[in-house]
Amino acid sequence: MKLSILEATRVWLKKAVEIMNYGEDVYEILKDPQRVLYVRFPVKMDDGTIRIFTGIRAQHNDAVGPTKGGIRFHPIVDIDEVKALSIMMTLKCNIMCLPYGGGKGGVICDPEKMSKDELEGVSRGYVRAISQIVGPTKDIPAPDVFTNPQVMAWMMDEYSKIREYDSPGFITGKPISLGGSLGRASATSKGCSITMDEAAKKIGLDISKSTIAIQGCGNVGSYMVKFAEEMGAKIVAVCDVKGGLYCPNGISYEKIRKEMETCGTIRNLEDCERIAPKDVLTIDCDILIPAAIENVISMDNVHDIKAKLIIEAANGPTTPEAHTILQDKGVLIVPDILANAGGVTVSYFEWVQNNEGYYWSEDEIHEKLELKMRLAFNRIWDIAQEKKVDLRLAAHLAGIERVVEAMRLRGWVR
Ligand code: NAD
Repeated sequence: MKLSILEATRVWLKKAVEIMNYGEDVYEILKDPQRVLYVRFPVKMDDGTIRIFTGIRAQHNDAVGPTKGGIRFHPIVDIDEVKALSIMMTLKCNIMCLPYGGGKGGVICDPEKMSKDELEGVSRGYVRAISQIVGPTKDIPAPDVFTNPQVMAWMMDEYSKIREYDSPGFITGKPISLGGSLGRASATSKGCSITMDEAAKKIGLDISKSTIAIQGCGNVGSYMVKFAEEMGAKIVAVCDVKGGLYCPNGISYEKIRKEMETCGTIRNLEDCERIAPKDVLTIDCDILIPAAIENVISMDNVHDIKAKLIIEAANGPTTPEAHTILQDKGVLIVPDILANAGGVTVSYFEWVQNNEGYYWSEDEIHEKLELKMRLAFNRIWDIAQEKKVDLRLAAHLAGIERVVEAMRLRGWVR
């Protein structure tokens, strides 16, 4: 039976609480967000009708600092998924030693079927509905699936109007001209590529002689192609939701970028064989990078996976059962809460720059991100060696330690 993403998240959380010998009260407080706001708000559509949209905002734990996490616009946004993603955000923020807890939000809608004005209406309506519980010192949203810098700009503008002062620090992932940070667009993939470099060193894999398959060709997947190429790897398979390509001689970032720009999808490329998106996961390669959606590596395909190293760029791509099988096979998995934490780290840099009103160069951002990612990877590697656990469990141990200490000092748990 496939566990839901919330159930799977709790499995790892519970194991971590047990290994750390924390009391049952710690698991009780961490297994669910502290606050979940469910909102319904009206939006005037282009044809003059009024439609009611449903949104959610979950704030998992604010013991360390304000909560932080993305907002997704998707036809299927369910409360358990938002809760799970908010828990993961708490873990990520603490793995990276950021002064935040985790948050997450979503609106049930289909951006592909909405006009620009309707999308703006939904963005502004959602912010009005959640404005009382968010803010630069309370809960700081960011982009997620199907939201982008333009959506962040509308949301920041709406929040600033409500508060009657300019509030760039209310939200991250903004366009550069509105206080966005250089390097934010590629930050998640940059962070993944740094963890890939560290992990490859640990297992003696030479990236410049390795083959890589990447599932997903959106923000994270497409930059991942770029960074892997810069590291000298050969990208042999990529896909998006509509189709995949297998290219034994390698695919260049430039060709993919052009194809995405002209067609909005990776339809076909010279010397490539068209394959089903799911086949990218089981292609013969050294490194597999799931960068699309959750639960894609499961009991249905785990026995066919050939990679020696998996970098989880997406959130929750591997089910707990599949994880165990891959571990037993000796595959090294860099877990999502570590691998993709570069995104929230540069979001944190954006918030710091907004609060200071002083902006850093792209080189400074990359340097600071690289330092934090390498430190986090090696801290988690050492925990794994010391406690004799895999990297996923070690990342959970690192992720909860600081939160529990903060909760104890505040008197929330024993
Ligand atoms: P995106 O919407 O830009 O891209 C998603 C890509 O996945 C698209 O190419 C889409 O076609 C493809 N896809 C969707 N369903 C698929 C399927 N069933 N099979 C194959 N491909 C499929 O999203 P993104 O921002 O690139 O995020 C990708 C993943 O990374 C998500 O799990 C997200 O939560 C996670 N993540 C993103 C960031 C970030 O900064 N964007 C940060 C941390 C984690």
